Amino acid sequence: MTPILAGHDLHKSYGLTPALRGAAVEVAAGEILAVMGPSGSGKSTLLHCLAGVLAPDRGQVYFAGARLDRLPDRRRVELRRTAFGLVYQFGQLVPELPVVENVALPLLLAGRPWGAAVTEARGWLARLGLAGLDERRPAELSGGQAQRVALARALVARPKIVFADEPTGALDSAGADDVMEILVAAARDLGTAVLIVTHESRVAGFADRVVLLRDGDVR
Ligand code: ADP
Repeated sequence: MTPILAGHDLHKSYGLTPALRGAAVEVAAGEILAVMGPSGSGKSTLLHCLAGVLAPDRGQVYFAGARLDRLPDRRRVELRRTAFGLVYQFGQLVPELPVVENVALPLLLAGRPWGAAVTEARGWLARLGLAGLDERRPAELSGGQAQRVALARALVARPKIVFADEPTGALDSAGADDVMEILVAAARDLGTAVLIVTHESRVAGFADRVVLLRDGDVR
């Protein structure tokens, strides 16, 4: 079976600092893959190369069988908007916007009418246990609530892949389990693949498969 996402022989340096040295990884459609490794092993760089945020110096990235790293910027941005969802450690919500608009944002950017986008966003908030928080600003949420809002925003456009960079890094273990359970259940439901980078084995325990990154290569 063709993987939905694949990186081959990925190299990336920041100046003289090598971050990736020939890393390779494949994710099947609907698979939940954890990439583990110590701090500085290249996890974030790998995630950003696979998501088309960073261009690798060498190697190839394939999404649904086509070269992602060769696409013009405009097409890569569009793909990230329609087929990818991203979740970061601190949620990265827009502080000025109420929660419901934060979640609706990917749909609004894709041209969905306001009313439909907001209705869909409210549905996701209810589904992730956040009903009643629609009009709050991100600063009025707990860390776990903010991270669940970030999950809703990553899932609202029904992406093919969610990329999650230390999604529970700012949460206690109960909050982390909560976020992981929600992410995994929603991904299974939608058939979405998930690539999680984490240094926590507790988080990796939610994945179907775990690969280990060390010094910029998968061992
Ligand atoms: P991880 O996510 O596993 O902590 P990173 O991908 O963030 O690893 O970093 C891999 C290596 O690249 C580290 O040595 C790090 O210091 C370096 N690095 C990461 N981002 C930058 C950057 N923007 N500029 C310079 N060096 C960087």
